Amino acid sequence: MTLVRTRIAPSPTGFLHLGTARTALYSWAYARHHGGQFVLRIEDTDVARSTQESVDQILDAMHWLGLDYDEGPVHQMQRLARYQEVAESMIAAGTAYRCYCTPEELDAMRETQRARGEKTHYDRRWRPEPGKTLPPVPAGVKPVVRFCNPKSGSVSWNDLVKGPIRISNEEIDDLIIVRNDGVPTYNFAVVVDDWDMRITHVFRGDEHINNTPWQINIFHALNAPLPLFGHCPIILGEDGLKLSKRRGAVSVMAYEEAGYLPEAMLNYLARLGWSHGDHELFTREQMVQWFDGSHMAKSPAQWDPAKLAWVNAHHIKLADDARLARLVARHLAALGIGADAADARLAQRCALFKDRCATLVELARWLAMFDAPAPPSPQDRAAHLTDAARPGLRSLCERLRVAPWEPAGITQALKDTLAEHKLKMPQLAIPVRVAVCGRVQTPAIDAVLALFDRETVLHRLAEAVN
Ligand code: GLU
Repeated sequence: MTLVRTRIAPSPTGFLHLGTARTALYSWAYARHHGGQFVLRIEDTDVARSTQESVDQILDAMHWLGLDYDEGPVHQMQRLARYQEVAESMIAAGTAYRCYCTPEELDAMRETQRARGEKTHYDRRWRPEPGKTLPPVPAGVKPVVRFCNPKSGSVSWNDLVKGPIRISNEEIDDLIIVRNDGVPTYNFAVVVDDWDMRITHVFRGDEHINNTPWQINIFHALNAPLPLFGHCPIILGEDGLKLSKRRGAVSVMAYEEAGYLPEAMLNYLARLGWSHGDHELFTREQMVQWFDGSHMAKSPAQWDPAKLAWVNAHHIKLADDARLARLVARHLAALGIGADAADARLAQRCALFKDRCATLVELARWLAMFDAPAPPSPQDRAAHLTDAARPGLRSLCERLRVAPWEPAGITQALKDTLAEHKLKMPQLAIPVRVAVCGRVQTPAIDAVLALFDRETVLHRLAEAVN
């Protein structure tokens, strides 16, 4: 059986956006599912718009998502000689030809066609054909290379996502495959690369569906084995329009910034165009186990931030506490708090608070109270730090000064205070929460207090009763 080889081929003209991340995920998961290989190719032939910064951002995003590749990054601009060689071989074989039309001539050609009410197209004037005399080669014009697209018949393929597709060759022009500066066009470079890289399955966005007939015809002209194609529908924004830069974040790394876990992004992105039974929540490993290219959605999915937050909350709950500590440290730093990611207490704090957070940013906002002042609101102060609450808080403060600083010792101090003042737990616990954490609700107060420095707790309680 042929080894499954897939690829993702982003153009480095911006960050890795969500749609590309999703097709990267499908390509990666498909290769991993079949024990195959996954290749990263950088399609940088749009020299004017490609930047190294964008390449770096793409590599960072792939790394963050954990989409490891077996080969690459391969840069197309380092393969110019190869495209040239293939183009020459096609000219020699009669499947491509040089065209010396100037931009002015092409404009005039289109003008005439429009005037005749025709769809504009290249009239194949430089295409060598039996019995045809070609125009004389003009001096000083650098030619482009065009592909001899078949004039009749049709191109068809069974799309992995959309099912059977057929396009008549009469609809397709003789495409430029090499520009007059020697740089190949997308549709040509992509075929040479997919051929050389022995790609067996291509997953990409359906904006490329119109390119596929050309590519298939070029594969045939090269006698190259044809990969299977799967075109995934676009992702719609919340407003039902195409997800774009102008409407919300479309960069993968913006979600790292906003406190999302990579496994949650993968889980959510996967479900935006694929399903496995009723499963909404799954791990990376499950996805690899399940993703066989079936059950791909034919229609566009809509981006749903609330669902993404729900998926993220689930993965935060599952995440290892020491890892969360490392991840939350940078979000604490963004709040101006220099936390030690290796501090065991930071991991314990994550463990205590992670089940109430949808993002790491929310987790950081909780954990900030351990290191930065957490003054209660005037309303909470007035409602809970009352004269009635003060005596209990004072006694607790005295007991905590000497109690063993661990949950059991703190629990005992709370219990003894309740007994002394004949209070019920909430009558003491809520004022303590407000005084120490600046909030009315927290996880069990003894567990929370144990993760503070004793000095901080004593200081905040003392401030509250004065
Ligand atoms: N460079 C193309 C893009 O970013 C790749 C398309 C393909 O996968 O063939 O859309």
